Amino acid sequence: MSEDLFFLKRQKLIELLREEGINDERVLAAMGKVKRECFVDEPEKEYAYLNHPLSIGCNQTISQPYTVAFMTELLDVNPGNKVLEIGTGSGYQCAILKELGADVYSVERIEPLYLKAKENLETLDYKVNLKLGDGTLGWEENAPYDRIIVTAGSPRVPEPLFNQLAIEGIMVIPIGDTYSQDMYKIKKYLDSTGKIRKEIKTYKEFVFVPLIGKEGWDYDL
Ligand code: SAM
Repeated sequence: MSEDLFFLKRQKLIELLREEGINDERVLAAMGKVKRECFVDEPEKEYAYLNHPLSIGCNQTISQPYTVAFMTELLDVNPGNKVLEIGTGSGYQCAILKELGADVYSVERIEPLYLKAKENLETLDYKVNLKLGDGTLGWEENAPYDRIIVTAGSPRVPEPLFNQLAIEGIMVIPIGDTYSQDMYKIKKYLDSTGKIRKEIKTYKEFVFVPLIGKEGWDYDL
C-alpha cells in the first residue's frame, strides 16, 4: 500500500476523531503525524486507520485511536514535560507523546513487546527511555513525573505511581474490574495546610487489557 494512501486514511481518521469530540488541536496534529501502520505487523497494517484496537501479539493490543486521543487530551502534556507511560505495548503512545514535545519514559512487562517497541521507535527516530519490568512500581530513579499515563486497566491507583507523580502533576489511568473501566484523571496538589490531595474526575466507559503486577491485578493470563 502506498504512503499516500496511508496519508489520506490518517487525515480521515483525524476528521473522525474531531467529530467524536476530540478538540485539542495539538493532540490531533500529533495523531496526524505518527504512522500507526508502523506499530503493527503486516496482517494488521491495512486496518491501521480504522478506529479499532489491533493485535500486537502476546495477547495484547494497541488501543483504539479514539482512546489514545481521549487519554492524551486528558493528560494535557506541555513541551518539556517528563512523562511516564505504563504499558509500552507497540510504542505508538510513546510516539504521540514525543510529538507533543515530552521527555518520555515507558515501562513494559512483556519482553517481546518491549523489544519490538524499541525497534519501532528507533526505526522512526523517536528517542524514548524504555524499561522492561513491572510498571505498577513505576520507575523510581527518574521520578518525579509531570504526567503519568497507564494504558492497561487497573483495580486501583498503584501507590508507587501516585508517589512518583509531581505536585501539580496529572495521572490518567483506567480503573475498574477486568471487564470494563472508567477513565480517571487525577491531579495531585497541596491543600492550604500543605497536605497532599487528589482531585479526581472520571469518564465512562472503556475496556483495557489488565495491568498485571504487584500493585495491579495479581495474576497472569
Ligand atoms: N500503549 C500501548 C501502545 O501504544 O501500543 C498499548 C498498551 S496495551 C493496551 C497494554 C500494555 O500494558 C500491554 O503491552 C501489557 O503487556 C502492558 N502491561 C500490563 N501490565 C503491565 C505492567 N505491570 N507493567 C508494564 N506493562 C504492563
